[in-house]
Amino acid sequence: MEASRGNFWAPASPLLPRLNPTCISCTPPWHDPQTVVFTDAWKAVLYPSQAGLGSVLLATRRHVSRMADLTATEWQDFQMVVMALEPALE
Ligand SMILES: [Zn+2]
Repeated sequence: MEASRGNFWAPASPLLPRLNPTCISCTPPWHDPQTVVFTDAWKAVLYPSQAGLGSVLLATRRHVSRMADLTATEWQDFQMVVMALEPALE
């Protein structure tokens, strides 16, 4: 079960203290306990150390080895996620 706000989804599961150690992209958002929010193509995951308060990782929801392999839709979604998250982190 997730909560939705437009294109953004938040997992309903409680937060646990570590990232998937194998591949963050290949873990469904609802199985990655540090996921704060996700879209069709991306998920924002709370960085475990929090060296900077609110630090997050933006990870694709499919395994992409190189940024150049992102699709046009994934780039558009990335822009939407950054535009939504940056004001919250300022
Ligand atoms: Zn992967």
